[in-house]
Amino acid sequence: MSEELLNRAFFSNPIPLFVTRLSDGCFLDANPAFCRFTGYGREELIGRSSLELGLWHENTRSRQWLTDTLRDNGSLRGFDARIAVRGGQVRECLFSLELITYAGEAAVLGTFQDITARIRAQAELRKERDFIAAVLDTVDTLVLVLDADGRIVRFNRACEALTGYSFEELRGRYIWDVLLLPEEQAEVKAQFSRLTAGDFPRDFENHWVTRDGDRRLIAWSNTALLTDDGAIEYVVPTGVDITERKKTEARLLSLANYDPLTGLPNRNLFQECLHHALGQARRGGQSLALMFLDLDDFKVVNDTLGHAAGDAMLREAAERLKNCVRDTDTVARLGGDEFTLILEGLRRPEDIVGVAQQILGQLSQPFDVRGHEIYSAGSIGITVFPADGNDMETLLKNADAAMYRAKSHGGGTYEFFTPDLNRRAAERLMLERALRRGIAAGELPVHYQPQMDLRGGRVVGVEALVRWAHPEKGLVLPGEFIPHAERTGLIFALGEQVLRNACSQCQRWRRQGLNELQLAVNVSARQFQRRDFADLVRRVLTETGLPASNLVIEITESVLLGEIETRVTLMQELKDMGVHLSVDDFGTGYSSLVYLKRFPIDSIKLDRQFVQHVCVDVEDLAICRAVAAMGRSLDIRVVAEGVETWEQLAVLAELGCDAAQGFVFSPPMAADAAGPWLHSGQPVARN
Ligand code: C2E
Ligand code: MG
Ligand code: MG
Repeated sequence: MSEELLNRAFFSNPIPLFVTRLSDGCFLDANPAFCRFTGYGREELIGRSSLELGLWHENTRSRQWLTDTLRDNGSLRGFDARIAVRGGQVRECLFSLELITYAGEAAVLGTFQDITARIRAQAELRKERDFIAAVLDTVDTLVLVLDADGRIVRFNRACEALTGYSFEELRGRYIWDVLLLPEEQAEVKAQFSRLTAGDFPRDFENHWVTRDGDRRLIAWSNTALLTDDGAIEYVVPTGVDITERKKTEARLLSLANYDPLTGLPNRNLFQECLHHALGQARRGGQSLALMFLDLDDFKVVNDTLGHAAGDAMLREAAERLKNCVRDTDTVARLGGDEFTLILEGLRRPEDIVGVAQQILGQLSQPFDVRGHEIYSAGSIGITVFPADGNDMETLLKNADAAMYRAKSHGGGTYEFFTPDLNRRAAERLMLERALRRGIAAGELPVHYQPQMDLRGGRVVGVEALVRWAHPEKGLVLPGEFIPHAERTGLIFALGEQVLRNACSQCQRWRRQGLNELQLAVNVSARQFQRRDFADLVRRVLTETGLPASNLVIEITESVLLGEIETRVTLMQELKDMGVHLSVDDFGTGYSSLVYLKRFPIDSIKLDRQFVQHVCVDVEDLAICRAVAAMGRSLDIRVVAEGVETWEQLAVLAELGCDAAQGFVFSPPMAADAAGPWLHSGQPVARN
């Protein structure tokens, strides 16, 4: 290349070019582009170094380093340094230097590019990024950035504060692995797997679990950051912790639905419950009872003792009401001293009466209100769906009307809306009163029916069967009053009386020579459920002197169901005393062979239902045969009940039953008739 051409390339080049001496850094030449850029004339530059001129501005690289590197490598590209142009302005430049020989000495040919604008833009960008990060850290909103796979890319300070985790700990972890509730993990994972398909959930709620194991409910709103070709690159969920808000909402909801004084459902919720219960009763073809209750004389308490006393009394009344119903029933306060109850699934009026009586009984107990003993009572109106009305309004109206009738009778009572139910309820009440009085007056004689041994043909025992010597109706059979006694709890007094009378009667017969006579006494499931039943038996045996081994307790199959452990304990206690146990009406209930094995049972009574047709019905015959065989193999005595003919007796003996009882020998007899019968020891003809 000609020198002229080189000169032209140097001097007319729009890119700044300069030549300096390697040894001292003094300018040997510079092109106009360089002079324009720096603001110095060519003459000013030549012979002086950039250090001297102040061009080399606060650069970290020393001249020595530059010289050494150039000597070693021959060139140096892409290093940045600052130039202070004339006037003091500083420019960021990217240099390229080349080692050359200039006029016989080592020199540097240099050029550069002004990158001030680019650097500034980068700094600007960095600043902005820091700014955004700073802003994200100042907001209370939870902000995080997840990549398209669900890994945590950013996590702002609000997130750190809520979770107790630092960003550094979670960076790169899958969101579901570290923060989500186990049962919600799958759902979020699935959401991310659908992201590529463009299925992107915007708003949703889920729970985060903090480092301390706290659960927080968070409402999220998602934004997607897309790549240039529209694929989702990042997901930016922003969220708010709504745990407290939800709690407040629930509290408000409760305020809208519950009476703050008693905590019972208010009118609102009551109507909703009734609506729901009616729908259910309609679908299930069931009945439902609605009760309106008003406290008698509540106004007096309120007026004389003050509102605080009134409030205390209402609270106490609400507690008592709740204790009278099942968990599934509804007790609500309509306002003032008015309460309502919804009793679901009750069929018989006497069940409803039972509840009403229990409530009235509870309310008649004295109230302890701020040191005052207050006596109160309630008036109850009852309507029954569907008999008294098919819809809510009618039922409410009728219950209200019935309640007013109860009030007009002086309070402390209940009234059904329907006269017929009223009458039946009144009858029940009369029966209960009469029975209570009858028990107290000793109007319940025990009759005795002999049991015959089918092998030896001797009398082996008697079954005690209670009767009610009603002053007007005459002798009433147990089927008419035992169920009622069980429902009202009178069975306990009744049962004790029967046990005591029968034991002392049996002991009297023993003294007259019937030493071996076994006395069977029927016991209701309710009696048998009492923990102190064995104590009662022990006491009665001691009082009457009857040896335990002469007593057989007859229980029904229903006793065997339910809480097995406590039953077994009670049975074992009786067995340990020497008392025998027998299962009555065997085959009619739910007993299974398992029970017979589990429980310490001595005998079973084959029910009359099978005995009745044993001669004509092959199925009944098969059942009797199976029961007899089972008894033999389990070493349990089998007693046939309700045997009426010699023919039946023959078949049962043939099948291997141990004993029998029934009209074929004798109906139940009063004690004074039974005595001679037993003494005569009526023989049984064996076929
Ligand atoms: P149960 O224990 O199965 O008593 C047998 C019932 O069958 C008795 O009826 C008896 O009179 C009747 N019966 C006996 N032989 C024959 C017969 O050949 N043919 C027919 N058709 N019937 C016969 P009762 O005395 O009316 O007693 C009914 C039930 O009342 C008893 O059934 C028992 O479960 C219960 N019961 C009786 N007394 C008491 C008691 O003191 N306490 C308890 N909890 N329940 C009792
Ligand atoms: Mg019996
Ligand atoms: Mg029976």
